[in-house]
Amino acid sequence: MSGGSSTTVRWRGALITMCAQWGLEALTDEPLSRHCTWRIGGPADVLIEPTSWAQLAALLRYAEENGIPAVAIGKGSNLLFDDCGVRGVVIVIGRHLARLEIDGSTIQAEAGISASRLARTAGLAGLAGLEHIVGIPGTLGGLVVMNGGSLRKAIGNAIVRVQTINRRGEQRILRGDECEFAYRRSRFQQEDAIITEVTLKLAAGDKAQVLPQMREILRERRRRFPMTLPSCGSVFKGDVELLRRFGPPGAVIESLGFKGTRIGDAVVSSLHANFIVNVGAAHARDVLELVRLIRRRAFDRLGHTMTCEAKYVAPNARVRPLDEAL
Ligand SMILES: Cc1cc2nc3c(=O)[nH]c(=O)nc-3n(C[C@H](O)[C@H](O)[C@H](O)COP(=O)(O)OP(=O)(O)OC[C@H]3O[C@@H](n4cnc5c(N)ncnc54)[C@H](O)[C@@H]3O)c2cc1C
Repeated sequence: MSGGSSTTVRWRGALITMCAQWGLEALTDEPLSRHCTWRIGGPADVLIEPTSWAQLAALLRYAEENGIPAVAIGKGSNLLFDDCGVRGVVIVIGRHLARLEIDGSTIQAEAGISASRLARTAGLAGLAGLEHIVGIPGTLGGLVVMNGGSLRKAIGNAIVRVQTINRRGEQRILRGDECEFAYRRSRFQQEDAIITEVTLKLAAGDKAQVLPQMREILRERRRRFPMTLPSCGSVFKGDVELLRRFGPPGAVIESLGFKGTRIGDAVVSSLHANFIVNVGAAHARDVLELVRLIRRRAFDRLGHTMTCEAKYVAPNARVRPLDEAL
């Protein structure tokens, strides 16, 4: 058992009781490797997947009032959990909080919906603008936090409103232009707010065009990315300076000679060098060491400091870019 102190035992017991009243299971000492696409990470003291926003608000309030570290995640497709896991509570915003409504060209969706389902539903309704998110293995909430997307597009462009809840359980609504969207950035990376619902405005399109475009994007993703091994997608950011002076991060890492470099079971993919794949039982420390080596060589040879898109979750539940965890 990871969280053995009497304080931990007490609050775990309280959370288990609270969840039981809702008919939910609070998982204890739950391996976080089961909740992220890298398949890496030690146990969480407690992991809970709420089925209503009222439950989420109550959990957040309880954690806040009792000083319990807490982090909300989606599918963990952009996260590296520490080998020691999280000494606190991990809250999964997933398939139970994934309702969606379409009204003309406006979509209102809960944060737990998967990016692919959202894209396909929009396409089937003849709405264009979300083709680029098909195949991204995250939730809408995670995508908004990361301002993710592909093909030089980002979800932020389609967002008109984001609804959040803070650690005291208070709700807030932000307009799209208040979300401070920039390349793989949003204000939600600095704030403790949990995203609950998102309103998107799309363009009227033709499903006979939109759906084949999505299929083509998926084909291209399968061709270019190592999809069969656990990873978190692109590890490093393609920041403006890097792109202008040296090219995209995958090409830069390849040119630095890292394709196939292995530490433990963490390997720089030989298909796409901006992916670090887990070929067995990789540890977070193996991935972090690869990141450190790549950054050091990039700095020594190119004079450029590479930064990471992927995030590290520390044992105290704080989330920060991988390069800030070194
Ligand atoms: C094979 C592969 C391919 C990928 N391709 C792409 C790509 O093409 N483009 C791209 O942008 N990304 C890509 N990614 C990365 C990842 O899928 C995206 O960043 C995705 O948007 C993360 O969503 P998630 O639900 O998994 O979030 P998580 O990884 O669970 O969390 C990411 C961050 O968001 C926070 N968070 C999650 N949900 C909420 C919420 N409801 N409220 C508040 N905070 C929340 C977490 O605390 C964390 O800080 C890829 C990943 C993989 C594994």
